Amino acid sequence: MTLPSAYASVILELAIHKTLDYRIPDALQGMVCRGSRVMVPVRGTPRVGYVFELKDKAEVSRVMPISELLSPEPLLTPELFELAVWMASYYCTPLATVLKTLLPSSVRGKAKEKQQLYVMRAKTRDQLADICRQLRAKSPAQASVLDVMLQVRRGMLLTELLEEAETSQAPIDALVKKGLLAIDIVRIDRSPLVNEDYIKTKPKRLSPDQQAAHDKIVQAIEDKRFEVHLLHGVTGSGKTEVYLQAIEKALDKGLGSIVLVPEIALTAQTIERFRSRFDDDIAVLHHRLSHGERHDEWHRIQRGEASIVIGARSAIFCPVPKLGLVIVDEEHENSYKQSELTPSYHARDVAVMRGKISNCPVILGSATPSLESYHNAVTGKYTLSVLHSRADAAAIPKITVVNMAADRERGGGGTFSQALLDGIAQRHKVGEQVILFLNRRGYHTTLLCQVCSSVVECPHCDVALTFHKDERTLCCHLCGHTVSPPPSLCPTCRKANTMKFRGVGTQQVEKAIHAIFPDIRTIRVDADTTKHKGSHQKLLREFGSGKADVLIGTQMIAKGLHFPQVTLVGVLNSDGALNIPDFRASETVFQLITQVAGRSGRGAIAGEVMIQTMMPDNRVIQLASQQDYNAFFAEEIEVRKLFGYPPFTQMAKVLFTGATEALVAQEAERYRQQLVALLPSTFEVNPVLPAGYAKIKDQFRLQFLVRGPKGFVLSRAIEELRKQHQTVKEVRVSVDINPISTYF
Ligand code: ADP
Ligand code: ZN
Repeated sequence: MTLPSAYASVILELAIHKTLDYRIPDALQGMVCRGSRVMVPVRGTPRVGYVFELKDKAEVSRVMPISELLSPEPLLTPELFELAVWMASYYCTPLATVLKTLLPSSVRGKAKEKQQLYVMRAKTRDQLADICRQLRAKSPAQASVLDVMLQVRRGMLLTELLEEAETSQAPIDALVKKGLLAIDIVRIDRSPLVNEDYIKTKPKRLSPDQQAAHDKIVQAIEDKRFEVHLLHGVTGSGKTEVYLQAIEKALDKGLGSIVLVPEIALTAQTIERFRSRFDDDIAVLHHRLSHGERHDEWHRIQRGEASIVIGARSAIFCPVPKLGLVIVDEEHENSYKQSELTPSYHARDVAVMRGKISNCPVILGSATPSLESYHNAVTGKYTLSVLHSRADAAAIPKITVVNMAADRERGGGGTFSQALLDGIAQRHKVGEQVILFLNRRGYHTTLLCQVCSSVVECPHCDVALTFHKDERTLCCHLCGHTVSPPPSLCPTCRKANTMKFRGVGTQQVEKAIHAIFPDIRTIRVDADTTKHKGSHQKLLREFGSGKADVLIGTQMIAKGLHFPQVTLVGVLNSDGALNIPDFRASETVFQLITQVAGRSGRGAIAGEVMIQTMMPDNRVIQLASQQDYNAFFAEEIEVRKLFGYPPFTQMAKVLFTGATEALVAQEAERYRQQLVALLPSTFEVNPVLPAGYAKIKDQFRLQFLVRGPKGFVLSRAIEELRKQHQTVKEVRVSVDINPISTYF
């Protein structure tokens, strides 16, 4: 027991950095601790805050007492509270908002056990879409509730809806009253792991590379020492086996582990690898868990009933009582970054901080480490371990670059090169499987006028509408607006019969394959075929069990799958991402090609990868096809250094959104000038420009970038501005620290 402290520093719920000192009144002595939620007077007004620290002396002479203790038990462990305070400061987000991110709503609220309110649409989708548009200006909160409800299949839990739509319950009640939505009571079926069989596996004898990495990590676990290990190895090199054995060592010492995997890799296959080694010691957290499931898992973890937690990005916040190891698999993955909401955290960076706070090692694993992490390894901040060869003895696949420009001159159709068609035919003949991969940014089919060259755009967003053949509709991927049937008259020049489809979509590729090879069976995995819960995994399972010969998909199929029968992977359009004006474009393409290549030849048969490109001489494509990560890193890091991009600087993107373009522009400019005045001259503040999507859901979007030395200078300036700058209500400001994309 420590002596009772006389004072407490308190961080206000709506603040980022600053703490204020208060006296702990006698009545509350011994009850207030770090993370306690309290009421304190601020210039005469009562405010909610959290105790940051207990202390014997106050910084100022006249100290007011804490007026009330709101919840005696802090919701977060001291470690997680410290993490939250760091996040508030680093990501320029009020502590209250950060705490909302850390605590699932099911835990924050008093979730009624196993009984929940379920919200459904009471009108057709089309009717609601119309009403939603009418409501947009008058009651934006109701419109955003409808936005969410238009996306779901049948309905969703009220608590989830509140979270997704970021509203209070009032707009939902209003919509129910108008007869647009309906609410019902449901019982939830729980436990995400039921009905899955698995066979127990034993630890494998490690290869020398694996052993070396393992020993360093285990030493840090035993010493309870914070240390970041970057584990660099291609797919199949045995990284997961190293994780499993490190987790086992932690478990032997009574310590828990957190394993982060990208949402998309959180498949039955992945879970099974862990379950087959550790039985029920595992909790799985992912965003498709129902509210009740999440609530149960969270408490199971908190009680120490599951020492190993596997989950997507937000699992980094789970309350593992005695944390001994943190693992981030595929650490370069962009899905670890929360870009749409504040705080704009990156789970990999939060993981490193969590390890630091908990005094435990952190493993970052990847075949293509992010430039940031590899730079940290090269400069000695992280420990690097390399797995040089594939553990499963499969050969590294042969990668061929196919020049599509030449193929087109020869009269090829533009989608498939002759080499790829020959490859597909040959694999099919011997009963092996093929994956065809379309880059995300190139898979849309749009409707284009052949006379005036304009594409049909969404009236509410700055984006071309995408054609969906099965439903014969044009659809907006940003707001869900649909036009059915597609217009035959050009909306711009008003000429008739001039509209033509352009671009290649997954649906078209599938159709073309059927036309060329009538007896080939295909499975398509993209946003359209995986709308429903579980459908993604079901399709992949079917492919794995040989129900199809060719798998066609977008980036959804690029990661973490293991199909021994796949011996050919074709990348149809590898160039798409290279044309985006973004300093990470090269890195993205290199990662993509490497990931895709990892899908081929995972079994006993050697694999092959064909990369179709219009730019066969492009450096990135060349280095990716040689799978030369080190050469790629050496060249790319020089570019970053030369132009002052991360990891050499810290970057922030400040985004302004609102319904009136002129007002948004005016506010953005005013904010920018005030920020310039607050920052030292070592910071570079770019001009205000329209965002990559200049309009979404009738909201105009303008942004500017700031770059400068790392540290907290920028976030201090932003908090200062939050206090000084009276933003008009109609314009929303959001700050993205270390944005994934400087463009979108
Ligand atoms: P990664 O995580 O790098 O993709 P995995 O750990 O999944 O690699 O290993 C790929 C395959 O090789 C798996 O089937 C795994 O069981 C096997 N494997 C890994 N390490 C060994 C080892 N030391 N001895 C034998 N097989 C291994
Ligand atoms: Zn739209």
